[in-house]
Amino acid sequence: MGLSTTFRDFQNANDVAPPTKAFDDASEESTVCKYCDGDGYFIENGVAKRCACVVEERRKRYRAEAGLPYFERRELEPPAREYVANFDKIARSRRNWIAFFGKTGSGKSTQAFGIVDALTTRERPVRAQTLLYGDFVRRLAALRYDAVEFEKSFRKATNAPLLLVDDFLDVVPKANSFEEHVAQALIKRRYETRLPLILTTETTPRRMVAESPCGEALLGRIVEMCDARITIAEENAVNHRLCSLAFNRDVIPY
Ligand SMILES: [Zn+2]
Repeated sequence: MGLSTTFRDFQNANDVAPPTKAFDDASEESTVCKYCDGDGYFIENGVAKRCACVVEERRKRYRAEAGLPYFERRELEPPAREYVANFDKIARSRRNWIAFFGKTGSGKSTQAFGIVDALTTRERPVRAQTLLYGDFVRRLAALRYDAVEFEKSFRKATNAPLLLVDDFLDVVPKANSFEEHVAQALIKRRYETRLPLILTTETTPRRMVAESPCGEALLGRIVEMCDARITIAEENAVNHRLCSLAFNRDVIPY
């Protein structure tokens, strides 16, 4: 077997080599892979094959980088499940967001965390970042009078290939306030870069419009980008309702 063939095989290698340890066991000591000696590939019958430890390491790294808080894994419900299953196609499309509105305890954050968990640990893991909205605003508030540092920090936090913003608008922003500026900038950034966004918020579409001065503009973009992947937890916090544009005509400002 010639070198070029071997190299091509290596490049194309999707073969998964022997060990598949549980990759999500963060407590496990990282040791040098005994199959590839840390090279990331090994030679089998004269052909270089990518070692399973490479993907495993990437999953571990992406999962850790995503910054998810601890949560109890639950089965994903339809909008979240379909989002994960079709993520590559959705991510390439213009309208690639998903949003969960509703009360605390309705399980919306669990669904959102579950999406990030699934996508960062799948066969071809996705890089993701989790922002707890209140923390994010507070962090940026410290830089509000330093435009350069603010912009740097803002970009760094919002440019992940997949972004989860948990508890969006946890404090209703006052007109022309710093909080309002951050909310608008965040939505605008993801909208303009056409990057996937997962949003959870305790507010409802109606309240978002009624209570926040920029609510109508924010909601307009969220509805457009979610392409009907919007879940609103009912008052009793048991049922989830997938709302379509038609259903929501009285709420959505267009
Ligand atoms: Zn290995």
